[in-house]
Amino acid sequence: MSTPAVACRTACGACCTAPSISSPIPPQRDEQGRVVSAGLPQGKPAGQPCVHLDEALRCRIFTQVDRPAVCAGLQPSQEMCGDTTAQAMLFLQRLEQATAP
Ligand code: SF4
Ligand code: SF4
Repeated sequence: MSTPAVACRTACGACCTAPSISSPIPPQRDEQGRVVSAGLPQGKPAGQPCVHLDEALRCRIFTQVDRPAVCAGLQPSQEMCGDTTAQAMLFLQRLEQATAP
């Protein structure tokens, strides 16, 4: 039996903080395509909150087509998200360490 889908927890942000992202993170753009805030051309290291997390820990560039593929492909799961942000951080930190080059 497959793991049931779970909803992303409000005000978590663990999966935008704990993992490293090796691909470029694009800038935030407004509806006219103008840059609103800078991205991270070199990606981000593990443990650093993404620059695009807003005050409520939501992604500011969620609807941009150039959002990193690794972000777009990530789905909430009970295994990753756990029951608390601390549990998610721990799972993702362990995963990061296990997959470090
Ligand atoms: S770890 Fe899970 S609950 Fe937390 S922000 Fe990511 S998808 Fe949402
Ligand atoms: S681009 Fe958005 S989804 Fe990807 S790590 Fe940054 S805040 Fe999270």
